[in-house]
Amino acid sequence: MVTRVDIDHRVPRVRHPEKQARASQPVARKPDWIRVRAPNSPIYFETRALMRDHGLATVCEEAACPNIGECWSRRHATMMILGDVCTRACAFCNVATGLPAAPDGTEPARVADAVARLGLRHVVVTSVDRDDLPDGGARHFAAVIAAIRASAPETTIEVLTPDFLRKPGAVDIIAAAAPDVFNHNLETVPRLYPGIRPGARYYQSLRLLDQVKALNPSIFTKSGLMVGLGEDRAELTQVMDDLRVAEVDFLTVGQYLQPTPKHAAVARFVPPDEFAELATIARGRGFLLVSCTPLTRSSYHADADFLALREARAARLATSQAAPGHA
Ligand code: SF4
Repeated sequence: MVTRVDIDHRVPRVRHPEKQARASQPVARKPDWIRVRAPNSPIYFETRALMRDHGLATVCEEAACPNIGECWSRRHATMMILGDVCTRACAFCNVATGLPAAPDGTEPARVADAVARLGLRHVVVTSVDRDDLPDGGARHFAAVIAAIRASAPETTIEVLTPDFLRKPGAVDIIAAAAPDVFNHNLETVPRLYPGIRPGARYYQSLRLLDQVKALNPSIFTKSGLMVGLGEDRAELTQVMDDLRVAEVDFLTVGQYLQPTPKHAAVARFVPPDEFAELATIARGRGFLLVSCTPLTRSSYHADADFLALREARAARLATSQAAPGHA
């Protein structure tokens, strides 16, 4: 009798091939204020099973987000569309890089079904960068938004998109799809872009936020920054000013955490009292909403924050209409 043994000769895929030649930098021990509990609630496991059953990727897992236990225990998962392989090579990001597969036409329906089953009142949808596609994936985003609107019309929709660098027309497609919130993260201060976001351009990202607001002022715009990468206070306040010139409504600021020894090192763990100071500075700049804590991430508490955003806009409108001289 011959026993046949199938051997898989495929070499395990390197998650970040472009980073392998870099010198390794030890991952610093996190301070006490960053520690989170290991996920163990039944709803966490239900959420995970639902994502697996629908064949969906999440940025929560791909980016190794520290908040996954808390968020998934509240059924709040941020879905990552257009595959799980990114065409950029940002020095802070844990999402796998390489050449992605073609977009899957069944994905919008699968996302929409998962949203309906989770019973979400607010969903955040993000994607990898798709520099290989002529529209950067904008049409796929629009299809996902339309599918969610059809299957879960009460659910409000937030998209966290790539920068659509050199993708003419992409911003018009996104603005016409009218998500409730448009989010694009500046991530860091312009001086650090060449090392941290080498494939991106600061002014392209800023302009994208500005354009969405100009094309559809009813869409809330939102952007996020990481701190602890070597930026200084003056640079951060300048970025806040730039975002307000672009009429961005909501700013999130959180601590950068180094995913692996091949990623950018943490320059500094910013203590909670400095986060509180930054929050005060940002509120003074006129954002409708500011979330600024060590564990803040763009989609952290996005459902509750959306309600707060709506209330803040209504309150500001009421104040401006009550002001002397208002017609
Ligand atoms: S903060 Fe965002 S990315 Fe992190 S686990 Fe929560 S939903 Fe997912």
